[in-house]
Amino acid sequence: MSAETVIETNALKKSYVTEAGDLEVLHGVDFKIEPAEFVAIMGPSGSGKSTFMNILGCLDVPTSGEYRLLGEEIGSLSADQLANRRNRFLGFVFQGFNLLPRADLLENVGLPLLYAKQPGAVRRARAMEMLGKVGLSPWAKHRPSQVSGGQQQRAAIARALAGSPNLVLADEPTGNLDSQTSDEIMRLFCELNDQGLTLIVVTHEPDVAACAKRLVKFHDGLIVEDAPIEDRRRL
Ligand code: ADP
Ligand code: MG
Repeated sequence: MSAETVIETNALKKSYVTEAGDLEVLHGVDFKIEPAEFVAIMGPSGSGKSTFMNILGCLDVPTSGEYRLLGEEIGSLSADQLANRRNRFLGFVFQGFNLLPRADLLENVGLPLLYAKQPGAVRRARAMEMLGKVGLSPWAKHRPSQVSGGQQQRAAIARALAGSPNLVLADEPTGNLDSQTSDEIMRLFCELNDQGLTLIVVTHEPDVAACAKRLVKFHDGLIVEDAPIEDRRRL
């Protein structure tokens, strides 16, 4: 693997312990992403997409097989070490935005830098810059409930970018948005990818997936399709 490969999994398996015994939900996934890729992941409900994303996001570890993030095998890291890798290398965007309701957008966007123990002035300057990047400068002092769903998701994207991550993981980022707002969010992702950001987006919506450069399909815990998108949807 080249030095700069962002992620690589080999024969990655994941089982959950249930009352009925061990349930294997990922059966050996081989996957690799290079810098500046834009990957859409699709697949039926229950096919293992979120389980896979949780492992890529260092929120969980594989049961067996390898996962390398920026060349480092993460399967044997401690919880603290995983948190450190999440904070340094990864950004997250969720379907439900996951913003803190009592904090304004500026404070929300600066959160990853708070976890990284950056001083307040640095946090605010960087958060302001990121809010500008997603077109939200005038709303910096608003709370999440005072702006639209699309604006909340933009703020969540700004938060994901605040720590200059090597990879952003978005699980159903447009799942709570109408189609026009969803297009706006995808346009933003495309712009960020054009600027070199590496992106993985899980989605049920073909229109959303069609914005990516590469489509990966999961079925029953395995990747069953992985190919470049020839005719990308341009927004
Ligand atoms: P998807 O995101 O594609 O809908 P998931 O990764 O959420 O799929 O789930 C894959 C399978 O793993 C499903 O059968 C689900 O019920 C099961 N599963 C997910 N999380 C857990 C868990 N914490 N404990 C037991 N089973 C789980
Ligand atoms: Mg899921």
